[in-house]
Amino acid sequence: MSHKLTYSETKEYMISTNEHSKLELNMIGLFDIIERNGITVEFNSFPLNVIGITTYDKIYMNSRYLSRMDIFYYAFIHEIAHWLRIKKMGFETYVQKYLNSEIEEFCDFVIEEEIIADRYACIVGEYLNKDSRTFMCFDQNLGDEINQFIYKKHMRHLHTSLPNDY
Ligand SMILES: [Zn+2]
Repeated sequence: MSHKLTYSETKEYMISTNEHSKLELNMIGLFDIIERNGITVEFNSFPLNVIGITTYDKIYMNSRYLSRMDIFYYAFIHEIAHWLRIKKMGFETYVQKYLNSEIEEFCDFVIEEEIIADRYACIVGEYLNKDSRTFMCFDQNLGDEINQFIYKKHMRHLHTSLPNDY
């Protein structure tokens, strides 16, 4: 899957692929959340080792990962959590957190948001599918100090870069 697909093409692809898959994910429920919250999603194939990126306007999902539907589905709910959080905190606060904070404060903020997004993805994934086992393994487990330390090391280059949330 290398070209850009529209929202409805991708939705159709995800629903029909899922019908023939033993994963049996609740796709309709996922798209319900997106549409009920008026979330703008763009599916594109970008050459990054990232499944989703959320900005103030949009969730970008990397269609290169559509072949890994289980993790793509989890990451999608994770990004929805970021989107809802960003809308709740408002544009000003969001930009301030990224551009006008010290490195330690910035790292703590991002880690906190990551933990919240992972929890949301696990809880909503479980709620939609009546099963938590599929989803728990994708949690980044950032409540753990060692994982936080590793995450911070990888995150320093993001400070004062574009206000994107990975
Ligand atoms: Zn995230």
